[in-house]
Amino acid sequence: MNLLLVEDALKAYKEGASASDAARLVFYAGLFRLQQARAADVAMYTPYEGLSPDEADAAYAAFEPLLAKAPVMIDRVQFFGMCAQVADYMAERAGLDDAAAEALRTFDWYTFTGKLNLRLAGSNPSEFVEACLEDFDSFGIDSVVSTSLVMTVVAFALRSFVQPASEVLLGAVSRELKEGSQHEHSVRCPVCGSPAAASRVATAGGNGGCEREQYCSVCGAVWSYERMRCGVCGTGDASVLSFSHAEGDPSHGLQHCDECGQCQHVVFEEDLEMPLSMEVENVVMARLFGSSALV
Ligand SMILES: [Zn+2]
Ligand SMILES: [Zn+2]
Repeated sequence: MNLLLVEDALKAYKEGASASDAARLVFYAGLFRLQQARAADVAMYTPYEGLSPDEADAAYAAFEPLLAKAPVMIDRVQFFGMCAQVADYMAERAGLDDAAAEALRTFDWYTFTGKLNLRLAGSNPSEFVEACLEDFDSFGIDSVVSTSLVMTVVAFALRSFVQPASEVLLGAVSRELKEGSQHEHSVRCPVCGSPAAASRVATAGGNGGCEREQYCSVCGAVWSYERMRCGVCGTGDASVLSFSHAEGDPSHGLQHCDECGQCQHVVFEEDLEMPLSMEVENVVMARLFGSSALV
């Protein structure tokens, strides 16, 4: 995560934003700082070897998520600490009602994180979150906090533990494979296997073609993608794909797919008159298109 870019983008968005939107951006700015500080700690104190360039290339070309090949070991005490820190921050700044904030603050994070399958979290984070949601009742956690709020904390905490590994793994893949157009790109995140959270479309300099990149909010990876291809199911059938723009805002839109019936949030770099941070764009578009789970 490029925190300087995040700060620049948030500053630009805050100008002219409504009070509630500005408060939401401030909340995320603080959250990103927490995540990045913890990620720096994890990178410094947790040894992680990753994959050799050959192994990384082979897995990338075969669409096998790199993290499954080289799982990261998540330290349970560190993870507990990060969950408690994120929960306290959300209780204070997420605009929750008093009862939810107090419940989040007093939730027994130590016992809860002791029950989590962190081995799965370190190899397949989105499957881990899904499994937690499904099995939540079996944890025997007696709490007034909603499952979704608890899992929001877990997901926010998780990013710091997988992001450093994601950077190492993607760094080991050859540039030719990552950027080349000779082969099809991965629909899901090539590092952690999660669905893309959002997409960036840019007009490339030079040959005038369009570049596109997918963004994974789980591990922070960004990867090349075909311009005319569904970001959800991967169909390249142009007749079922279309773009629509947010009203009065050419820089943000949706890619619609008639084949899978899904759509994806897209930021059009050419029309965006401010610094582009995918972390910030993901937050802004969740609000813009009404799919925000939090504040
Ligand atoms: Zn990912
Ligand atoms: Zn589709």
